[in-house]
Amino acid sequence: MNILEAQGCAARLSACSDSPAADVELLLCHILECDRTFLFTRREHVLSEVQQWQFEQLLQRRLAGEPIAHLTGVRGFWSLDLEVNATTLIPRPDTECLVEKALELIPPSAARVLDLGTGTGAIALALASECPAWSLLAVDRVADAVALAERNRQRTGLANVRVLQGSWFEPVDGVFDLIVSNPPYIDPQDPHLDQGDVRFEPLSALVAEEHGLADIRYIATHARAFLVTGGILLFEHGYDQAEAVRQLLAELRYSDIESAQDYGGNDRITWASWHNPVAEQETKQNAE
Ligand code: GLN
Repeated sequence: MNILEAQGCAARLSACSDSPAADVELLLCHILECDRTFLFTRREHVLSEVQQWQFEQLLQRRLAGEPIAHLTGVRGFWSLDLEVNATTLIPRPDTECLVEKALELIPPSAARVLDLGTGTGAIALALASECPAWSLLAVDRVADAVALAERNRQRTGLANVRVLQGSWFEPVDGVFDLIVSNPPYIDPQDPHLDQGDVRFEPLSALVAEEHGLADIRYIATHARAFLVTGGILLFEHGYDQAEAVRQLLAELRYSDIESAQDYGGNDRITWASWHNPVAEQETKQNAE
């Protein structure tokens, strides 16, 4: 079987995937340890017997619904190639909107940034790669995810990120200019949990009580003690949660509350700033 013939197997995936041709390309690049250019310039290249066997195994697993990122063990996010496994969420392109917004909101000069529920480390590492002057703390409750994020930190060589294990703020000290999070936000009753990649991702990274809002509420409540005055809290959330998240932030007395859409045109991120009334009163008194 040569590369062209292998690419022809994409048709077999059309029932289980929205992108069968791209899936087969990713599998072939993984097995042949090559880039896409090789696939298109060396169509006559013949796969070895072992490679053909591996290809068939991976096609079968893909047919059973396993995410491509779990089959190849990597996923591109921002400009980074990250290791991925079943211990945490696969980074999504929509989360790049959160990265873009963070870069827009906070100047690239020195800033302290906290990423809660970091998973693969995607958000923290993407921000660190763009802003070498920032210092980033990435936290996850799941030990295997922390180990994965740390491996991703090492493979990307980003020295301005530290990864710690703990539940939300538990291992966190100090204050931050920006707190970001892509927490679990899917309603436990959501029928999408039975479809596509999410079936192979841990529920602990996907699902939250209160129709998906419980963790967002927890983080927003406690973040106030970890933000400098004027600091920003930035969330990714479900496509139908923007209004509820804005209301929750308003109830908690955040200000400058705004939302923005993802690449699919869904409301996907919401942010707000925290003005600590005590700190601002003291600053005013000192100035008088
Ligand atoms: N965006 C993911 C999905 O809908 C969920 C991510 C999350 O819960 N943080 O598949």
